[in-house]
Amino acid sequence: MEATAPSVTVKDASSGKGQGLFADADIKKGAFVAEYTGTKVDSKEADAMKSKYLFEIDDEWTIDAEHGGSVARYINHSCDPNTEAEIVDLPAPRPNTFFVYVIECENGAMYIGQTQNLLKRWNEHTTGRGAEYTSKYRPRGIVHSEEYSSREEAVAREKWLKTGFGRKWIKREIKAGRLPVRSTQTGARQAGGRIIISAIKKITEGEEITIDYGDEYFDEFIRPHGCRCGAKKHH
Ligand SMILES: [Zn+2]
Repeated sequence: MEATAPSVTVKDASSGKGQGLFADADIKKGAFVAEYTGTKVDSKEADAMKSKYLFEIDDEWTIDAEHGGSVARYINHSCDPNTEAEIVDLPAPRPNTFFVYVIECENGAMYIGQTQNLLKRWNEHTTGRGAEYTSKYRPRGIVHSEEYSSREEAVAREKWLKTGFGRKWIKREIKAGRLPVRSTQTGARQAGGRIIISAIKKITEGEEITIDYGDEYFDEFIRPHGCRCGAKKHH
């Protein structure tokens, strides 16, 4: 599989903040940055966990990124962040519906596949059971998906996307910000609780990628030591 340069990289952040996630290239406002992946745990149990990398989806589910997590877990807090997270569900499986999907891996490569159950397949990929490739190079997120009414059509489209032309098309569409991060089809949705992080302003090459951890986290873990995020105004 042909790898492209990843658009983000993990390195040491400014003093006292440990590691952070940085842009390797300019990222447009509204563009996909990363998906927060990991092991799904019960939110009630998560409170007692020692993991540093918890992201609560809702009262029921929390993502623990310490196990099987993506680079998104390195995003540091800022009171004036350049990204935000959105909880997104995947479409539920329906009769005669076949999905072709594109996963961007942490090495920048695009993994292309097709399935009848997108959420199940996605959960397999994020936990290292989906394919040899995605267990080696962790998925950053589903950057594109399409629906077809027959397996034959889906397989044909998957085949084309895997060609040099197809891969070029995917890269061009992503660069132009045209590929939908989520499925736009209406209809029943399966509660998947994917956490999609996208840019809320233009992020320039070399800039640290940040997100607002929220009031609750801030009051409990950041306020007691004082916030070092560099913003003019803090929470
Ligand atoms: Zn701050």
